[in-house]
Amino acid sequence: MIMFGPPGSGKGTQSKLVAGHFGFIHLSTGDLFRKEIQNNTAMGDIIKAFINRGILIPDLIVMRELYRYALQFKNVPGIVFDGFPRNPKQAANLDKVFHKKELRIALVVSIQVPDEVLIQRVLDRGKDSGRTDDTLGVMEKRLEVYKTLTHPVIDYYKQTRRLIEVDGTRDVRVVAKDIRKIVKVAGFKK
Ligand code: AMP
Repeated sequence: MIMFGPPGSGKGTQSKLVAGHFGFIHLSTGDLFRKEIQNNTAMGDIIKAFINRGILIPDLIVMRELYRYALQFKNVPGIVFDGFPRNPKQAANLDKVFHKKELRIALVVSIQVPDEVLIQRVLDRGKDSGRTDDTLGVMEKRLEVYKTLTHPVIDYYKQTRRLIEVDGTRDVRVVAKDIRKIVKVAGFKK
């Protein structure tokens, strides 16, 4: 499944919760990149420059990191993609790879939260997340990138896929319960 939403919508938190509940792998591209930065690799330096400006990492790097990580998992009941795909090109690439491997995207959950709430949440999170991109300037850029490059992914999935919208302004546990229900309806069992 794909957990979709703007920065600060709670997609990381909700991805972890739903993955824990159903035994799915939680695959956050943002986390993968932050690990690469922590490891002080040359690739980490390149990645850091993009993240700190609030812009997307080039697709080629994203795909390489993602598939390298994802391919270690065999016979898992599911994967929650968190922060991927982030533009229609990534979505099309995922479809191509999944088609080849006879995998399918069962469900896309889109978490909706208004801008002013997103900004406040990210600024609050920035106080102890240690994330260098949780600042007002970078967050404004991330929101702009979301609207122009990432949001069109919704239209891509609307045409072909089960896309379900969830109100992300409510309590974390209420949102989590909603998402569990949606996943069950899609045919998954705990
Ligand atoms: P996140 O943890 O999902 O908020 O991602 C943090 C940052 O990592 C983003 O602002 C991007 O710079 C980068 N990033 C994460 N996932 C992707 C992706 N799928 N494509 C391009 N850049 C990404």
